[in-house]
Amino acid sequence: MAAILLDVDGVLHVSGEPIPGAAAAIRRLRENGHRLRFVTNTTTRSRSQLAGELRAQGIELEYDEVQTAAEAAARVLSGKRVLAMTMHALIADLDALELVGEGADAVLIGGADETPETNLVFSYMNLARAWAELEAGAELYCLHRNRWWQTKEGPMLDSGAFVAGLEYAAQVEATVIGKPSSAYFAAACEALDADTEMTWMVGDDVEGDIAGAQGTGLRTVLVRTGKFRPDVVERSRTRPDGIVSSISQLPEWLEEHL
Ligand SMILES: [Mg+2]
Repeated sequence: MAAILLDVDGVLHVSGEPIPGAAAAIRRLRENGHRLRFVTNTTTRSRSQLAGELRAQGIELEYDEVQTAAEAAARVLSGKRVLAMTMHALIADLDALELVGEGADAVLIGGADETPETNLVFSYMNLARAWAELEAGAELYCLHRNRWWQTKEGPMLDSGAFVAGLEYAAQVEATVIGKPSSAYFAAACEALDADTEMTWMVGDDVEGDIAGAQGTGLRTVLVRTGKFRPDVVERSRTRPDGIVSSISQLPEWLEEHL
């Protein structure tokens, strides 16, 4: 039996619309005795909101099985004064931090979402404030630095552009807290009490999920849903151990390949 880390967005749903067969696949993985952890970079939903949405989709899971980048940020940045440029929904997960408007030790950049809130969070005024904090010595962190993500309307610009912009302007380098950072994958393996070499990562993003997990020593399966693009995979040097058409095919693939 394996330990399996499952990406959420693009693997189990896209823009909140379930990927067909996802709930049944999760049930079968559990019946087959695999240990699961839901490992997401979501920057628009708190851990409990996400757990609720997945349950509403028919996926059985415990709150503790969900690992979010925001919750990891609360651990990594514990004790620091943080200027957070994140969606309001994440505040619940960042509760333990001292969130400040100025005089920060750290600037934390979250992701974009499909609502006008993105305009507010990444306004010129907020970006200029973040830059001023970095100039004054604050460290730059981001939940992820994705270039784009897949919505039901098509691809949309993500917040990686703002992270890169602040790095350029303040001449600093951001620390990534979520995927593809090794610390994030390692924390997930540790939560399952699993060796990295015996753990599988399942995702739709060849960079964030597959390359990141391989860099930490995990085995990987890429799904052809969500962010998957055949040309990106063909051009990439990253080779997943397996490719399946969707999460619905994963239980059978693992039965053959484990
Ligand atoms: Mg994904």
